[in-house]
Amino acid sequence: MTTARVRAVFVETWGCQMNELDGRRLVGLLLHEGYREALSAEEADLVLLNTCSVRDKAEQKVYDRLGRLALMKRERPGMVIGVCGCVAQQEGEHLLKRAPYVDFVLGTGRIEALPTVLRRVDEEGDRPVEIGFDLDEVAYSPGSIAHALPYRAAITVIEGCNKSCTFCVVPLTRGRERSRRLSDVVAEAKDLVEDGVVEVELLGQTVNAYRDPDSGKGLSDLLVEIGRLPGLRRLRFVTSHPRNFDDRLIQAMAETRTACRTLHLPVQSGSDRVLGRMKRQYTREDYVGLVNRLRRAMPELALSTDVVVGFPGEGENEFAETLSLLQEIQFSNVFSFTYSPRPHTAAARWERDVPPRLASERLARLMDLQQDIQRTINNGLVGSRLEVLVDGLDRKGGRLSGRSACNRVVNFDGTGARVGDFVDVLVEKGLPNSLSGRLLGTPLDKSAAESLDCQRGDGCREV
Ligand code: SF4
Repeated sequence: MTTARVRAVFVETWGCQMNELDGRRLVGLLLHEGYREALSAEEADLVLLNTCSVRDKAEQKVYDRLGRLALMKRERPGMVIGVCGCVAQQEGEHLLKRAPYVDFVLGTGRIEALPTVLRRVDEEGDRPVEIGFDLDEVAYSPGSIAHALPYRAAITVIEGCNKSCTFCVVPLTRGRERSRRLSDVVAEAKDLVEDGVVEVELLGQTVNAYRDPDSGKGLSDLLVEIGRLPGLRRLRFVTSHPRNFDDRLIQAMAETRTACRTLHLPVQSGSDRVLGRMKRQYTREDYVGLVNRLRRAMPELALSTDVVVGFPGEGENEFAETLSLLQEIQFSNVFSFTYSPRPHTAAARWERDVPPRLASERLARLMDLQQDIQRTINNGLVGSRLEVLVDGLDRKGGRLSGRSACNRVVNFDGTGARVGDFVDVLVEKGLPNSLSGRLLGTPLDKSAAESLDCQRGDGCREV
């Protein structure tokens, strides 16, 4: 009797946390179908490119990668190539025409159809294009996600976006907002925590627009329900839109012991004129007012943001307003990019009046300023004790590394800690992008760590 060879899948993912999670969903669905996960495209029978189209030249990068896979496929004609994610959603049929060696295209709203699509490829020689969205459902099977880590997991709570920011392709690639049932999300979180997950991150393009389709309950209710699950230590959510952040959510965050004192709140620009052209639906004053309310409720809150530099209509004055906003808010981290027109967006039809070179210069100025801000903030943490969840070794491979509850990277000296442990670290040095310190004592066991009297919520205590 011959044993059938187990087919191997390799998923290559670009982009945000939602794409990362989608990548694990793709793997999980195939593990259920009897595949194994390969470590590289070279050893895989099926290669899935899980693509992102948020940044410039995304499609080009996909076609470049596909070109290299095509050479591989020439050597191994049985190899199957699928394109998934946002570029798949955006390009659809066009992808098959332009890349004849691609076997199928699977959009962001059709992940669950992967096994069926593969059967059509294998058994019918079809080249399916599965794109589009169910109007009000999120097709999502929590049981078939191959989470990458045993102690940390993400959960999608809402898909899509109903905003129409003029630079953004997400409403096209992810569709309209669809929220999952609150009871389903809580049950998923409970299962994960019972399996040993201690840190849960709730995901959505506009996660704070979440609404339970049955009861209308919002993200604040989800935080409260999930936040009290026994065994859960850290609860995060991303990405929030300032317009959807109400006082109930601030209160729920402040009162939920496990809700980390960290928040990603994209501002995009400090200029009202630019914010208006972006259709962000808030002013600088609205944003600053929200940050003030958040900090009144949670003084230790670490805020991060996104900024687009060189958006059409951004003159030197508007850019200066963005710099002054960074000074005013003192973000702990800023993800900044030069503007690049995305296909099918409103802003892509506008004149590009900020030359790319000028935009790059502005970006460099902004990053310099932000590095100074971060150095100052991180220096202020010297002498603090942080509770760190260990992720492994630092980039150089010589020291242990992990994240504090306030989402800072902490590299530290010490022995005896393992990946997934909570440890107490004394911060000895603040760098612009990380903290450096040393391990205090042995790893905290769960019960000891849970009993820490953590006044600041982010695990920071003065020594
Ligand atoms: S709110 Fe975010 S995801 Fe939605 S359109 Fe604006 S930038 Fe894109």
